[in-house]
Amino acid sequence: MKRNTVVFTAICILAGLVLIVSIGGSGKADQPQPVSKSSAPQYDVEKELARAQKTKLWHKKLLDEAVGGDEEGKMLTSFMMDKAQFVTKTGRMLNPLIITYPSKGNGAIPDINSGFRVYPSSFGDRRHLRVRELANWQFEPDRNLLMIPSRLEWTYTRLWAGVIFAHELRHVYDKVTGLEQRSRLGSEVWLLGEMRAYTLEIRLLNLATNGKFAKELEKLSSSYAGGKWIWPTDAEVMQLNKLFKSIQSKSERFTRNTLYMVALNFTLAEQHSLGEAGKRQALSFIHKMNSR
Ligand SMILES: [Zn+2]
Repeated sequence: MKRNTVVFTAICILAGLVLIVSIGGSGKADQPQPVSKSSAPQYDVEKELARAQKTKLWHKKLLDEAVGGDEEGKMLTSFMMDKAQFVTKTGRMLNPLIITYPSKGNGAIPDINSGFRVYPSSFGDRRHLRVRELANWQFEPDRNLLMIPSRLEWTYTRLWAGVIFAHELRHVYDKVTGLEQRSRLGSEVWLLGEMRAYTLEIRLLNLATNGKFAKELEKLSSSYAGGKWIWPTDAEVMQLNKLFKSIQSKSERFTRNTLYMVALNFTLAEQHSLGEAGKRQALSFIHKMNSR
């Protein structure tokens, strides 16, 4: 009994001390105290959601401009609006996958059924996801994740940004609808998917230039005899660039050059009646050249 009283008294003294310190015993009570990092909110959910929505609408506008009246393009725009979930790295609530992968190492990929995720990000942001740096617009089928550049309006002309976005959306659509299952880079299935995406891209560029793009391609490729695939010369690239606004960045230059190479060889295949098989061969050639 006596021992219990001693313990109780000791507890009271301790509690009293704690109370004194907490109401200002340290003399710093009226100064603002720093909030500990662990208890501070890391993000504002409402703000993140509003930002994601804004980004989504901004991209719809970009697509609308690039797509015009093209039926396939319009279908992909509706698909994006219906199925895309824009995510951010800081938005833990928006997308736990982004923030926990791969640091927690569970690799859990939530099944989002018929939808997909869009992640506006820099290459630096993507390094955390261990994504291979291939392109500013890049679809990761295994994660159902479409990565798009952040602040893209500063690095690409609007038309080209919209057209490249449409190209990647075509890949996403093929994956989500089951048209293109897992495919190995360079395989026949992969080539077919690329052919669909590039055909769309070329048609949209042609639409934006009122048919001038196709005319120029025909003119340029008619000077080649056929029988082998071609690299466009600097002069040819310059000629094609005249149809569009000035290039905004090195990455836009690279993207355009690849597209011109594809478009010129597709035109060459058409001129020599090589059909879709010829176009697939051309793509295979370009893929091998680019991955050297
Ligand atoms: Zn592609």
